[in-house]
Amino acid sequence: MAINLSDEDWKKRLTKDQYEVLRKQGTEQPFTGKLLHNDKSGDYTCAACGQVVFKSDTKFDSRDGWPSFYDPANADAVKLEEDNSFGMHRVKVTCANCGSHLGHVFNDAPDQPTGMHFCINSAALEFKGKS
Ligand code: FE
Repeated sequence: MAINLSDEDWKKRLTKDQYEVLRKQGTEQPFTGKLLHNDKSGDYTCAACGQVVFKSDTKFDSRDGWPSFYDPANADAVKLEEDNSFGMHRVKVTCANCGSHLGHVFNDAPDQPTGMHFCINSAALEFKGKS
């Protein structure tokens, strides 16, 4: 169920903040996102297509101002790509289903089970709590 929409269609479908992050590789300001301090149990879906990309049981507080996870919901949920923009070498995280930009991943979390730190924009996510 891969989604392939035109830029105009994405613009209509998403809020301005969602569009900037998901479709224009933007990064929200730290400590501003609605899901940063969400500690409820549930699934985090891609705000563009609805695929589950992260789960609450791997969320942790990295203290850097963005929702952080040490693993994706499953190995096929996200794609990792080299990102050399802004003079930095980073690895960006995109939704495997729709290609939207979610955030970046760093291997700077030695106290987490995988050592990985998926640094994800709140604007790229929706939260579906467990009822
Ligand atoms: Fe998606």
